[in-house]
Order: sequence, then structure tokens, then C-alpha cells
Amino acid sequence: MSDLRQRFFIEDSPVRGEIVHLEEALQTILAQRDYAPAIQVLLGEMLSATALLASTLKIKGRISLQIQASGTFKWAMAECNHLGEIRALADYEPDPHFQQAEDSSTVLKTLVNPVLFINIEPEFGERYQGIVPLDKPNLAGCLMQYYDLSAQIPTRIVLASNDQRSGGLLIQLLPRNSEEEQQRVDEDLWPRLTMLTETLKTSELTDLEVQEVLYRLYNEEEVRLPEVEHLKFGCTCSKERCATALTQIGANAVRETLEHQNPIVMDCQFCNARYQFTAEEALGLFGEHLS
Ligand SMILES: [Zn+2]
Repeated sequence: MSDLRQRFFIEDSPVRGEIVHLEEALQTILAQRDYAPAIQVLLGEMLSATALLASTLKIKGRISLQIQASGTFKWAMAECNHLGEIRALADYEPDPHFQQAEDSSTVLKTLVNPVLFINIEPEFGERYQGIVPLDKPNLAGCLMQYYDLSAQIPTRIVLASNDQRSGGLLIQLLPRNSEEEQQRVDEDLWPRLTMLTETLKTSELTDLEVQEVLYRLYNEEEVRLPEVEHLKFGCTCSKERCATALTQIGANAVRETLEHQNPIVMDCQFCNARYQFTAEEALGLFGEHLS
């Protein structure tokens, strides 16, 4: 089993879905920092969720989920782009609550003034940011509420994670276009699928092959599976991006930094890649030369 996302359709119906399984990529990401157990589980769920949400977009670019709060938990973010590359990061202070890991509710219930942002960044075009209240017990509940309220697309999401594997499943009832389609629809289908989806156990989502999960849930339905998509850890950092960041902090700040750090060293928090700028390179960004 590897890191993958499988789209599925219920034949002759307006229902589509996605199922995600993460293993190697999740382990790579969790190994980058010494995360407490509950933070690992939260990041696992956030990563599966972004991989699910990314598939609903029809753009080139990336989508990220970001949770911010005051208190011991500062923030966490997970991101997926159209190439199926994922990455994640969290910042928090030690807290005994984070030592037990059940699901995302373990962290969510400790948060003070939490906000969940959904950021969509197309390669070209306008960025979008949605704000989601974090007032449901777990992350899946908050995201379902977002779809109900903002997109008005009936959606069911299940997320699960441990420190080795994570998984997610999403089904949506898409709007029906024509009256003809409206008439052909099996009115009982959505309630039936919703009920079946709710029988899914978190351990099934983390431990079983995605096709096996779909079979267990929907074997009475005619499920169509397009080609599976592979997901992997990927970081978008580069020396160019670091140079842009230096340009943004300005020539004075760069000169000050060079007084105690030469070359300037910049570490990517996501992948631990290290970028270095000699004084000549750093000042060169501002058209300056070493005196
Ligand atoms: Zn990086």
C-alpha cells in the first residue's frame, strides 16, 4: 500500500467521492520534527483532508488548511498541490494534553480562539481564503459544515490518522443539471450512502487498501474507479524563494544580519533544506556590492 488518492463515482448518479491513504509521505513529514502524539494525529488528518480537498479543485495550484489559536497550540498547516505533493508543519508549546492521541478532537478541544483557514492559491489568478469555525468536535465535522454552509454541496467526510498512516474519505452529492437528470435520480441513494459511510471505522481507513474500504462500504452499488493518483511528500522551497524573502525584509535588515551571520543561512522548516547566501549574494539582491 502506498500514498494514493482514488476518485470514485456511483454509476448513473450525481454522487462522486475520493478516498485517500497516506503512509510513506506521512511518515516523512512526521519525522521532520519531534511532534507530540496528538499533534501527529492532527497533522495526519489535516494532510488527508487537504489531499481530498485538492481533488475537488479544477485548477493548477495548491490548497492548504491552516489552524491558528492562542494558548499552547500556535498553528498547524497542511498543503497539497495539483501534482499530489503534500507537506505540513505545526508550532506549539509542550502541553500534557498533546501526549494522548485519539483523533483531531484531542487537540481541537484544547484550542483557545481557534480559526481554520482554507487557502486556495492558483498558479495564476486570484487567491481565495475561506474561514471555517472550529466548533465541531473534529476536523471532518468542521469541514462538512463548511461545505454545507458555503458551497451548499451535501458532503460527508471521514478522517483518521495515527502516527504511521492516515486516511480520508469524502462523498458529495453534486447539483443535478437538467430536469431529466433530476427525474432519473434515486432519491434514496444519498441517505443510503451517508448511512453506509457512517459505518466506516477509523481503523479501516488507516489500515485497509482503499479499494477494500470502498468495497466494504458500497458493494451494493455500482462503483466506477478511474485511475488512481499518487501522492508524495514535496516541498516548494527554493533558493529563489529565499532570495525573495530577503528582498522583502529589506537591505538594512540584511546588512544587520550579515554582521553576525555570514553567510546568511536559511533553513526550510518543512523539509530541512538549507540555503546559504554569501554577503556578496545577499547584498547583490539590492544591487549593492561589498565595500
Ligand atoms: Zn523545503
